[in-house]
Amino acid sequence: MEHVPVFVANWKMALSHKAAMETLKAIKKLAKDMPDSVEAVVCPSFPSLAEAASFVGKISGLQVGAQNVHWEESGAWTGEVAVSQIAPFASHCIIGHSERRRLTGETDQQVAEKAALLIRHGLVPIVCVGESWEERQAGETVKRVSEQVEVLLTKLTRVALAKLIVTYEPIWAISANNPVAPPDPDEVAQNMLLIRKLAAGQFGNEAAERLRIIYGGSVDADNVKQYVGEPGVDGALVGSASLKPVQFVSMIKTIGEVGST
Ligand code: PEP
Repeated sequence: MEHVPVFVANWKMALSHKAAMETLKAIKKLAKDMPDSVEAVVCPSFPSLAEAASFVGKISGLQVGAQNVHWEESGAWTGEVAVSQIAPFASHCIIGHSERRRLTGETDQQVAEKAALLIRHGLVPIVCVGESWEERQAGETVKRVSEQVEVLLTKLTRVALAKLIVTYEPIWAISANNPVAPPDPDEVAQNMLLIRKLAAGQFGNEAAERLRIIYGGSVDADNVKQYVGEPGVDGALVGSASLKPVQFVSMIKTIGEVGST
């Protein structure tokens, strides 16, 4: 099934509010002639969500997402952010990023609960799954990715698959983790096929075809065609290269011209 390719900018904690708004302004200016055939979701830190959302307004193809949400609707969770607090500003939300799984101990179960909660509130979860370098070296990539996806699927319905984006992001390929080598695009495509097969096993081929699966890990304007040009790859989650507006918009335009598979 043809999907509209989606590019998600994960700005992490990299920008002050002022710098985030300046970066967004530059993207908006460059994105004026952005192809309609591509979607872009910019994910700043929580304090910038409201202003980013009002600034982006109704530009076609450009949307705002959050970088995390709590798995409970509400409650005594000091320092956490509830789905109802991000929903007025964000259409999407990244969850299960490896930095959160590793550094804050987020579990597969919690990530799955977050996904179901976001869908109930009309937001698109962008769920990150992927293996560490040690898991890859031990030949455990399939096992680890399958575990994460299977737990996720237990909390979802067939209909929900169309409202979800899964990011296959090998942890070792993230630029902040200093990858030894870029992942082989064929291997990436195989792991994404695994994710679609797991979804098909649970909900059937038709529902699984509706799921968007994107790739994350050191994507930039030079290599974007290699990864997003592979069959079944519906876009990219982009970290450091998304902080450079010219580079981010250029990769979107490249794929807009090429089209998705
Ligand atoms: C990320 O950490 O989600 C990411 C995609 O980062 P980078 O593009 O910098 O590898």
